[in-house]
Amino acid sequence: MSKPIIGIPGNILRGVNETNGVTITYTPQGFIDGIQAAKGVPVIFPISPTEDASYYVDQIDGLLLAGGQDISPLLFGEEPHLKLEATEPARDAFEMALIKETLAQHKPILAICRGMHLLNVMYGGTLYQALSDYKELTVQHIQQTYFNTGSHTITLDTESQLGTIFGATYLVNSYHHQAIKELADSFKAVAWSKDNLVEGFESTDSEQSIIAVQWHPELMLKEDLKMQRLFTDFVKRASVAY
Ligand code: MN
Repeated sequence: MSKPIIGIPGNILRGVNETNGVTITYTPQGFIDGIQAAKGVPVIFPISPTEDASYYVDQIDGLLLAGGQDISPLLFGEEPHLKLEATEPARDAFEMALIKETLAQHKPILAICRGMHLLNVMYGGTLYQALSDYKELTVQHIQQTYFNTGSHTITLDTESQLGTIFGATYLVNSYHHQAIKELADSFKAVAWSKDNLVEGFESTDSEQSIIAVQWHPELMLKEDLKMQRLFTDFVKRASVAY
């Protein structure tokens, strides 16, 4: 049996001290571990011209969108707020081109954190640019404990694919200062934090296989089998022709 190939658009470190000023393309190791443990073959894509997206997507069976920089608010019609953090417009553009091509080819997507936010914005949704600007959002979403430890509760739709894995409630880690404000019509929310932020969504189109989560399963999968199951389920989806 052949192994599904999973494309992971990489992030870029632009010459910081740790790399002696050298610019580096990378993805967090947890994504590699999760896909390999699921018997998939991970491939990291460098940020590239948007017209190259189809060359990459032609080679893969599924697309895994990782976390990272804030989404440029210009993509949802807003100017940058004071608390917006670093953006990477070239990454936004390349990942949107990859998403468009992946869905045109009816290949599955697993989106983590920033990936979830980008999907939402791309299909017409909006984001909170900085959660600390909203008094009604009372749960700490940038946790101050170990990254492999769940810090806040989510409730899930037990009829959903995420609910099938995680049940009606679960503990997840949390490292985001942005979140979904208005969810795009293409998606249905299936997981929520206690302050009612969308923590997970799936596609409303039964012809597309999309799962998006706001937490970081790649940082928890060594200790939590259900987090690994998210990757195993994704590789399984990638092995089925749509
Ligand atoms: Mn959260």
